[in-house]
Amino acid sequence: MQYVEPGSLTEALQTLSQNGEEGKVLAGGQSLLLMLHLGLVRPAVLVSLQRLSDLTAIAYDPKGGLRLGAMTTQRAIETSPLVRQHCPMLARTSSLIASVHVRMLGTLGGNLCHNLPGADPPPALIALDATVLLASTRGVRELAIAELFSGFMETAVRPDELLTEIRIPPASLGGRAVYLKHCVRSVDPALVGVAVRLKLAGDGVTCADLRIGVGGVSPTPYRAGSAEKILRGQRLSRDSISAASAVAAAECDPITDAHGSARYRRKMLEVFMRRALTGGWNGDGAAALC
Ligand SMILES: Cc1cc2nc3c(=O)[nH]c(=O)nc-3n(C[C@H](O)[C@H](O)[C@H](O)COP(=O)(O)OP(=O)(O)OC[C@H]3O[C@@H](n4cnc5c(N)ncnc54)[C@H](O)[C@@H]3O)c2cc1C
Repeated sequence: MQYVEPGSLTEALQTLSQNGEEGKVLAGGQSLLLMLHLGLVRPAVLVSLQRLSDLTAIAYDPKGGLRLGAMTTQRAIETSPLVRQHCPMLARTSSLIASVHVRMLGTLGGNLCHNLPGADPPPALIALDATVLLASTRGVRELAIAELFSGFMETAVRPDELLTEIRIPPASLGGRAVYLKHCVRSVDPALVGVAVRLKLAGDGVTCADLRIGVGGVSPTPYRAGSAEKILRGQRLSRDSISAASAVAAAECDPITDAHGSARYRRKMLEVFMRRALTGGWNGDGAAALC
């Protein structure tokens, strides 16, 4: 296996373009090194992004919103004053990933491209209506975050593409947002992860807008559209939130694995969605509210 460390984005994209399916991107290595060690992937060329410091930028402007370079580490997101100020839910989500040493090395781009079912950032970014930029020598395309996740540990990223940036639009910043994670041990990925982004109307009880992202339950993270529909435009109450959570649980397509059965995941989805929605609505379970 050949190891290369391109010094620029252009060089990295050319290397990927030349190697096609034989090339593999290395970001923080927290997932890929394990896959290599287990022989689950065998690239001919490993393309490290370590020298691409432009991909570690975190920037905010009122028109463009929040922009995170793909090589931004989970620890940098957790501790960034900009992220904490404009999108505290994402900072909190990052703080729930594994342990500090994993977060010091693991990157947001690597997390999204690995697409582990219980990964924490995907449901949060779905609720935040984020988009991602995918660059190649052919140009740059922008995808809605949910379109990135195409199957179990599969993504829409092509072999010659690099995920370069994650964008969170201004409309998703500020306001109420909650991410709740249920896992067996604190270093584990989520058995169930629910992210809620809620806007209340002027009366303080009507749901003006809502986006819900779910992770850990199914092979891919997804948006809980039916639950959103039940609550959008309605007065929020314990009953309406319970009804929406029950529909989300009834409609999910849960997996069974060593961490939990499909039946358990379905039940926990209902519980954690109810808690996350209630936290977004009236601050109950304040620890969860960002
Ligand atoms: C002990 C442990 C516990 C963990 N617990 C959690 C948890 O609780 N929650 C959670 O969300 N995650 C968890 N993870 C996963 C962790 O977040 C990983 O760091 C992350 O999934 C991968 O990020 P990375 O930068 O290390 O990517 P790498 O391991 O370097 O790469 C992962 C994959 O993404 C591809 N890739 C990376 N960057 C790009 C890019 N910019 N463009 C295109 N392709 C790219 C690589 O080719 C590879 O296929 C855990 C990991 C470990 C080791």
